[in-house]
Amino acid sequence: MTAQNETSDSQSLAPNYTPIELEKEIREFWAKNQIRQKLEDLQNSPSIKGNLGYVEGPPTLNGIPHIGHARGRIMKDIRYRWKTMEGYYMPFWAGWDCQGLPVELEVEKLLGVRNKRESIEKYGMERFIEECKKAIMRYHVMWLEADGKLGIAINQDKAYWTYKDSYIEREWQILKRAWEQGLLEEGHYVVAYCPGCQTSLSSAEVGYEGSYKEVEDPSLYFKFRVAGTQNEYFLVWTTMPFTIITDTMLAVQPNAQYVKVEVGEEIWVMVRERVEPVMAELEITKYQIKESIVGKSLEGTAYEYPLKDMIPKQAELESKHPLVHHVIGEDFVDVNTATGVVHLSPGNGEDDFWAANRRGVPIYAPYDDEVKFTKDAGAFVGVFARDADMLVVEELRSRNAFVKVKKIRHEYPTCWRSHHKLVWLARKEYFLRTDKINQKVLEAAEKVEYYYEEPKNRFLGFLKEGKPWCISRERIWGTPLPMWTCQKCQSKRLIGSKQELIDNAQEEVPADFELHKPWVDRVTLKCEKCGGVMRREDFVLDTWHNSGASPHARFTDQEEAEFVPADFLTEGIDQTRGWANSLLLENIIFTGKAVAPYKAFLFQGLTQDSKGRKMSKSLGNVVETNKLLEKTSADLCRFYMMRKCSPVDFMSFDMQELTRRSYQVLSTLYHLSKFFVQNATFDKFTPQKYSLEWAFGAGKLQSADLWLLSKLQQRIQDYTNKLDRCEFNAAVAVLDDFVIETLSRLYVPMIRKELWTDEPETFERRQTIYALLYHTLKTVTLLFNPVTPYLSEALYQKIYRQMEPTQPETVNLAAWPTPNTEMRNPTLEEQFDTLLKVVSISFAARQQGKLKRRWPLSKALIVAPEKTLNAVRGLEALFLEMTNVKSAEYCVAVPESVGGESWVSSQEDNSTVFVSAQRDDKLMGEGIMRDLARRVQALRKEMGFLSTDILDSAHIAELDEESKTLLEPYLQEMANLIRTRKVYLHVNRSEVEADWHESELDGKKIYLNIH
Ligand SMILES: [Zn+2]
Ligand SMILES: [Zn+2]
Repeated sequence: MTAQNETSDSQSLAPNYTPIELEKEIREFWAKNQIRQKLEDLQNSPSIKGNLGYVEGPPTLNGIPHIGHARGRIMKDIRYRWKTMEGYYMPFWAGWDCQGLPVELEVEKLLGVRNKRESIEKYGMERFIEECKKAIMRYHVMWLEADGKLGIAINQDKAYWTYKDSYIEREWQILKRAWEQGLLEEGHYVVAYCPGCQTSLSSAEVGYEGSYKEVEDPSLYFKFRVAGTQNEYFLVWTTMPFTIITDTMLAVQPNAQYVKVEVGEEIWVMVRERVEPVMAELEITKYQIKESIVGKSLEGTAYEYPLKDMIPKQAELESKHPLVHHVIGEDFVDVNTATGVVHLSPGNGEDDFWAANRRGVPIYAPYDDEVKFTKDAGAFVGVFARDADMLVVEELRSRNAFVKVKKIRHEYPTCWRSHHKLVWLARKEYFLRTDKINQKVLEAAEKVEYYYEEPKNRFLGFLKEGKPWCISRERIWGTPLPMWTCQKCQSKRLIGSKQELIDNAQEEVPADFELHKPWVDRVTLKCEKCGGVMRREDFVLDTWHNSGASPHARFTDQEEAEFVPADFLTEGIDQTRGWANSLLLENIIFTGKAVAPYKAFLFQGLTQDSKGRKMSKSLGNVVETNKLLEKTSADLCRFYMMRKCSPVDFMSFDMQELTRRSYQVLSTLYHLSKFFVQNATFDKFTPQKYSLEWAFGAGKLQSADLWLLSKLQQRIQDYTNKLDRCEFNAAVAVLDDFVIETLSRLYVPMIRKELWTDEPETFERRQTIYALLYHTLKTVTLLFNPVTPYLSEALYQKIYRQMEPTQPETVNLAAWPTPNTEMRNPTLEEQFDTLLKVVSISFAARQQGKLKRRWPLSKALIVAPEKTLNAVRGLEALFLEMTNVKSAEYCVAVPESVGGESWVSSQEDNSTVFVSAQRDDKLMGEGIMRDLARRVQALRKEMGFLSTDILDSAHIAELDEESKTLLEPYLQEMANLIRTRKVYLHVNRSEVEADWHESELDGKKIYLNIH
């Protein structure tokens, strides 16, 4: 006989789950049928439930997309697909962060220049800007590829770019609001400055993960002589000797006790409680405390600044201001470290700055852009600040101001990008006075949903610092600060749009004009107050200000009204100081209200390598998304990354694990679906005729079916709740468990045999099972879609849309499953739990007697409380089937007849199962025969033989000797069962030239052929 072979085209499932090929095919399907556009069209569809706002957290286009990025993008995509299926419209539109220092540094490297000045001198700004644009486009291509492969359904056509004029103009509008409210200020402030990048850093950047590095610095004790004395000194300590060049005052704690200590010929002044430890450190054993004084009484004391002869400016400052080189009292002085006498350099320290600022003491900060001393620093002119450390030490030594110097290793903040040691400098900068709106910021942040406590506390804790935000950067490739200052009267004007600028320009604006340096710098305005020339302040904005403007800048006014606040955002935990912060601050500045532009924010944990190390270029352990997905399935990655750990945990990405459990789950779903469709097609099942409602009506549902339906409802609820709480790992575990345990290990084995027959009298029962499997597997396929969109689309297209062509065109437009509470049956579920437990005890009993599960046994005796017995009794047929036992007996106590060698048993809690250990060759031979008969039946169906076809012969090869002997008496019975004229056994496959199908018995390969 020849079978009608199954057609293998795009309409049907390939024999094996080969995800990479399948994903390629589905990508083509999406493209060919413009599925993304159809999802976008939902925006104007009357059928949607409503809008859910979204703003993309823009990746910076200066890095290659890696698996850490992928993790966050998968979470966003899950939310999008899920909410779309629930009937909402989300503007899931891409966005790219394009400007900033990282891009510039890369271009500098490419052009082979060392710094900003050199690049401008050698290449000019226009060329530099062009190179920056080219650089981001090179990365953009990689990001598009990564999103495409990963199956991120984000709309790339609607992407925003932070460097475009239209975006910049709207970002300017936010600054304008700040300016109008008095929240944008220019001023000298102490900022963290990176000598390598030649720009200031925001306080948020200073606190970045990994910014603090252990560095070596001098630990210097020095002394300043009290003015008018011969031998009295203030004892001071610092790790930054170069700041002695800018020393302006000393500070003491007003309420602490200070002492005068006699050391040799000298008297040293320091705080009482630090005398012993400091003397020990200085290895001074001979000293004596002479006099005790309260800190307050030291205020106003003058001291001799020792470097005046080298730094004329210091002498000048001293003569101009009465507090310069005097002692002041400050509460911030810590008396638990060093000497309790602190030297203040307002040009180099934040506390110092404010102390001077409050007293009207001038800020002395003689530094240029490379943090080298200017001529105001006298003899130190041209020296890089940190290189001055040892020069200063030597000068102190020669002036009897030196006490001791050592090296210490300590944690010190470095630039997160270039790892240069940061220097605190007073500079002229522009600030958003976010400290003034801190109450609103905290109030707004409190109202946001964060899902997990730890990241929430971290974010709120950071916001409480409430520092002013330094937004000016001394760079090129960025959004220009739209501030023009009159060169004559210093009055300022903030420009809010391109048009406003063009309208007010003093000269013709050229055709290639764009809102970047150098073009924007060439525009001068006329001062409205004095008629003088106004020039732009030479700053660009902090890139965090660019991305933080996105809820306003990326939309039109109308869109903004519809989509802001965003319903849900998610980014890495490092964004507590980054985007989450800048979004919040700018929204409050722009709206004036205590509201965040997002209702919920999930901070994800970072992704590490398999050994738990940070991924970094230097370690060479970065997993690039595109390279990974050349040889790995996107669905597998998605499933694995969500399954592995909680979204807030640090995740160790392990390639080895990818192919294990995750593959097992997806492959099992694939094969279960295939198993269903083969059988259903064979029996000409149609869901229109044999619906679930029909099955209920026809009364052919059995306990196992009702149990499955009940479990399914509970799982839908559970899964959806977990997605809602962003417990992605727990949500995916629900799917994993349902597919592997409930469906594959339990339900399908319960009903499989019913599908092996093709008798007309069980036709309706088989249709009932198909109706149930159709409903269940389709539901599961829909539930999988947010996590594994390729597999779900494939199953949806090749099975469910084939059977019901009127369904929506893509799985993404199918309705999200909702639980049917009428199908819930907790009592039945409990009964099944009991049954499964007793079955598992009986397996343990078999193991005791080394009795294979396939061997039929004559009897099982269950000894358990009445409730347990009743549960099993009610499902006896299933119990016998699952345990492969011919009959069961039930007792509440062990009967006397039991004991001896013919039984084996196992016990758990208060239940014991005995199984007869007698090996019965007759039963075993019959068992093998039935087992093989089922395999042949399945093969018949797979090959497309009709139930009425009588086969010529069936061949079974390579059975082990024992099974062969046991089987031989049953060959004729088997032939009848499988509707075949004769069954042949072969020791070796090579005995017959045939098309062998691989199968297995007891874990050993055997081979079948039918024709
Ligand atoms: Zn740097
Ligand atoms: Zn003016």
